[in-house]
Amino acid sequence: MTIRVATAEQRSASYDILIGRGLFAELPSLVQAACPAARYAVITDSDVATLYGDKLVARCHDATLHAELFAFPAGEASKTRETWASLSDRLLQRQFGRDCGVIALGGGVVGDVAGFVAATYLRGVPYIQVPSTLLAMIDSSIGGKTGVDVPAGKNLLGAFHQPRLVVADLDLLRTLPAPQLAAGIAEAVKHAAIADADYFAFLEREHDAVTTRQPEALERLVRRSVEIKADVVAADERETGRRAILNFGHTVAHAVETTAKFAVLHGEAVAIGMAYEARLAELLGIAAAGTAQRIGRLLERYGLPLALPEGATAEQLLATMRLDKKARAGTVRFALPEAVGCMHADGSSWTVAAPEGVVREVLAAG
Ligand code: NAD
Repeated sequence: MTIRVATAEQRSASYDILIGRGLFAELPSLVQAACPAARYAVITDSDVATLYGDKLVARCHDATLHAELFAFPAGEASKTRETWASLSDRLLQRQFGRDCGVIALGGGVVGDVAGFVAATYLRGVPYIQVPSTLLAMIDSSIGGKTGVDVPAGKNLLGAFHQPRLVVADLDLLRTLPAPQLAAGIAEAVKHAAIADADYFAFLEREHDAVTTRQPEALERLVRRSVEIKADVVAADERETGRRAILNFGHTVAHAVETTAKFAVLHGEAVAIGMAYEARLAELLGIAAAGTAQRIGRLLERYGLPLALPEGATAEQLLATMRLDKKARAGTVRFALPEAVGCMHADGSSWTVAAPEGVVREVLAAG
């Protein structure tokens, strides 16, 4: 199945997202067609390198493509300027030129870092995304946001750089550990909560099929989430408008990740963030009563956390939120739901400046 992201700003930057099984074996020809290059840098992390990286490079060699593997230690702690600099230096040492292409093979961390390397290397080279986690397939590989974390917060340095192609091979999910699958489901719940009440009902109804990785259930989940994300980012490539709805849960989530020094998975932080932000929406009179409870109940069924990590205080989180990319003039802003499947808009703005006192109250209530 192919879903096209037709970016409104730059028609030339439109690209396909392929979803299916057995696509990994076809990667050399897919890569060559969508991103012709003299040499390919396959950027991945240490875990994915062992599972799939060496295999991909071997397949490229079989197809007479020049490909080299560049791996960095797995985990969010590697999403840094240092990893970006080290990968860029290694490509320079290997004399990769402007005629190279980057293949980002891995989860969201790999996609964000490798995409940022591609965005900046020799002022920008093309890249393709081969997401290997559920979260990366349905979320981070789409939309062209690349970047790294810095001590002040998540994703604060980066660039928009659209991939030439996204290849989501569902077979790769077989090796994904259960907590990583759940972390991806958090983003699926977000997609449903912001845009599609029927999809939300599907996630409620098909809980068992999804968690036992039934092929049809996973395929439907990935397809619907990709459709929603592709639709939202195509209309607003650089997040000047409606794209902000994708940040539901993320103002709190990014603060949780930063203050917990990334001891929680991104998807888990998003679950916690949605639970708190949905309650905030109800307290502000934006969301219908019961919205927060329904979202929280679904997240909990998928084994996701709803409470702040131990030791996280409302003051710490608020201080981090003031640095959030959505903050304006030091005022923290949130993308909030009115109901399951429907986000709140205030004129042309899709975010709300919530009074700090109310945010503090919600965070402190636990
Ligand atoms: P991740 O990239 O750290 O991957 C999670 C773990 O799973 C890693 O240890 C990895 O090695 C392992 N793994 C990956 N694929 C595997 C497979 N098929 N089998 C077994 N193990 C596998 O984490 P993630 O949850 O994929 O991504 C989170 C990151 O994505 C965060 O940094 C977040 O900020 C970012 N993100 C970016 C966007 C965006 O628009 N750019 C959107 C959402 C999230």
